[in-house]
Amino acid sequence: MKVLVINCGSSSLKYQVIDSETEHVLAKGLCERIGIDGVLTYQPAGQDKIKYEAAMPAHRQAVELVLKQLTNPENGILKSIDEIDAVGHRMVHGGEKFACSTLLTDEVLKTVESCNDLAPLHNPPTLVGVAACRELLPTTPMVGVFDTAFHQTMPPEAYIYGLPYEYYEKYAVRRYGFHGTSHKYVSLRAAEILGKKPEDLKIVVCHLGNGSSISAVDGGKCVDTSMGLTPLEGLVMGTRSGDIDPTCIEFIAHKENLSLEQVMDIINKKSGVLGISGVSSDFRDLDEAAKAGNKRADLALRVFAHSVVKYIGSFIAVMNGVDAIVFTAGIGENDDIIRSRIIEHFDYLDTTLDQKANKMHGEERIISTPDSKVKVICIPTNEELAICRDTVEIVTKKMVEDTVKDVLSNN
Ligand code: AMP
Repeated sequence: MKVLVINCGSSSLKYQVIDSETEHVLAKGLCERIGIDGVLTYQPAGQDKIKYEAAMPAHRQAVELVLKQLTNPENGILKSIDEIDAVGHRMVHGGEKFACSTLLTDEVLKTVESCNDLAPLHNPPTLVGVAACRELLPTTPMVGVFDTAFHQTMPPEAYIYGLPYEYYEKYAVRRYGFHGTSHKYVSLRAAEILGKKPEDLKIVVCHLGNGSSISAVDGGKCVDTSMGLTPLEGLVMGTRSGDIDPTCIEFIAHKENLSLEQVMDIINKKSGVLGISGVSSDFRDLDEAAKAGNKRADLALRVFAHSVVKYIGSFIAVMNGVDAIVFTAGIGENDDIIRSRIIEHFDYLDTTLDQKANKMHGEERIISTPDSKVKVICIPTNEELAICRDTVEIVTKKMVEDTVKDVLSNN
């Protein structure tokens, strides 16, 4: 099957076409500045990236341009859009309604819309992207893969907040967790790399990127995660504060004469390692500044590593043990300094980093020494491939069901 994978942001749209049999990416790219002016990037496999400006007043035009580019006789990878067998959409918040990926029918989309309250910045653009794809590819099956779904296996003691229970009952205020597609993909890969069944492993997955989250995966199921109702809770991140005493919000609002919205904006966009360092949210800049003697950059890195250590330790406690600690995403895959800072804390676990393997970049590898009891593994995440796999599984199941229905109705 050829699967078009779409990941919509408020002003961007990332896409890939994946051949599900070989799992090769046939082409990928990005639409940026949707609603402003419009820039399209397109890269067919093994060829150079092409970038050009094109008007994209809304997501519909962006999808239209992507389809046009994919079928362009000069450098397109498809003869016709009919070659697209299915579309897999990354969906952010499925609330409690979606514990797995699902076919996007009218009814399902209405249910997703009812979760918009929980993710007002993320869900609406995704729905606009889905609507555009449905309009332009009306007969192609569409599947939604939710960022929250993998975490739906958490037990209530992990997801209920210490708030009046009525807020959970009335508004579904609870921990949901995010980056679920990545946590699932990476934990399954870790089991494959270790040659074990997921059911036999306790894994802590550290997805450390611009947004960061950690999850405890016991027997292949998520039992706890650091992000909460929204992706603000948990670790100190690029620009997000992560865990703070909620009183800070009221205190800062009073002292600085700011509204609730203004403080929330600061906590989301001007905090984290950017806020601490005053330098950057990018760990490459922070590593460089810290090396050059910038004390606040160094502090930001230490605060980040400390928050990761705290969550790893607490999730080991939650699972009553650990077999593997896995690093993924921009920082987790690339920043060997942060990885060693974190793992050095865990000598009580009888684990040592293989310094040579830790220094390598961009490939799957075990980075602990062979005699380490707890394995430390680096795994580049691949959310697009995970979305493609789920899409194929659901579309194939639907085709089988339809065939059975046809056979039964003809008999
Ligand atoms: P992501 O959100 O997964 O795309 O991760 C993006 C973040 O990864 C960037 O903001 C950087 O902080 C970090 N990053 C990417 N490459 C490196 C690198 N070579 N060394 C350290 N951090 C990196």
